[in-house]
Amino acid sequence: MIELDGSVGEGGGQILRTSLSLSMCTGQAFTLDRIRARRSKPGLMRQHLTCVQAAAKVSGATVSGAEPGSTTLVFEPGPVKAGDYEFSVGTAGSCTLVLQTLWPALMLAESQSRLKLGGGTHNPMAPPFHFLERCYAPLLRRLGAGSDLDLRRLGFYPAGGGEINVSVHSAAETLQPFDLIERGRPIESYAECLAPALPGAVARRELDHLGRALGWEAEQLRTPPVRQNEGPGNALMATLAYENVSELFTQFGERGVSSDNVANALVKEVRAYEASTAALGPHLADQWALPLALAVWRRGGEGTYTCTELTDHATTNFSVIERFLPVQFVTLALGGGWSVTVRRIA
Ligand code: ATP
Repeated sequence: MIELDGSVGEGGGQILRTSLSLSMCTGQAFTLDRIRARRSKPGLMRQHLTCVQAAAKVSGATVSGAEPGSTTLVFEPGPVKAGDYEFSVGTAGSCTLVLQTLWPALMLAESQSRLKLGGGTHNPMAPPFHFLERCYAPLLRRLGAGSDLDLRRLGFYPAGGGEINVSVHSAAETLQPFDLIERGRPIESYAECLAPALPGAVARRELDHLGRALGWEAEQLRTPPVRQNEGPGNALMATLAYENVSELFTQFGERGVSSDNVANALVKEVRAYEASTAALGPHLADQWALPLALAVWRRGGEGTYTCTELTDHATTNFSVIERFLPVQFVTLALGGGWSVTVRRIA
């Protein structure tokens, strides 16, 4: 039984999700105490509980402590079963985080799974659907783990109601680590504003301000069509696509925050990424660690990536991964970024 303390490092929900993912992948049981101890409302919130319930269903796990607000969990997984599953967070809680929890275990299964997930698709503090589709899934594909993602309906806080369908292909035989050191040649950059059920002028103002600040042309500033029954919501996204990697940065508009301020916050993220030559931005840097470590565990050897920043999320994730897999993370400061190598040690 692996014993983990949920208050260490970043002390948030990612410690739980990484533990669930790797418990399912390796068959090792774990106990997690002091869950989300560093958050203002510690313990399992709806989104975290859905992750636990979904992981338990997919792996036939025996679980105790899976209740709202619980600060202790015991999770003993059985064998992971590929199949068709449906999970809903039931609130605007992020369903993309539920997907990321299940993805590693389902991709190591012998056959394809199909997931139908409900909840928030574009939430602050979680990977938006478009980030998974354009940035995370293509890297997984290069690792040998294919998938198809379909956004059926946008879901924003507080109404939720988003829906995504995902097919996770089996990578049991194909997983292979690779190095991601350079972005490669720039391909395109563009911004989009998803603002269902809001006046069109809101999206226009955010995009115009962003375009002026970054020197982007009108055709790089887009308002994709939204469905009638979606929203309300306001996500301003900037996508930077390179030969080897794509990054996507998101800011959320909210009542009382001016369009200029939403756009300025996004400009800052884009400029921070452009100021470095490292491959991955701060969010991909913490999320890429787990799939790469799985590939290194399964195939041996090592894998390296460069990133613009090493956040507490990333370093906390490294230490949780090291508890479940015989791997070691080695980080090295570079001018304007970091290099991260994960290596098999047994
Ligand atoms: P809590 O912090 O309340 O426990 P949580 O369960 O939502 O919350 P965190 O531990 O904060 O989880 O993890 C959030 C995850 O979402 C991290 O992997 C982080 O990189 C990712 N993330 C947050 N914002 C973005 C974004 N804009 N784009 C991509 N990924 C994001």
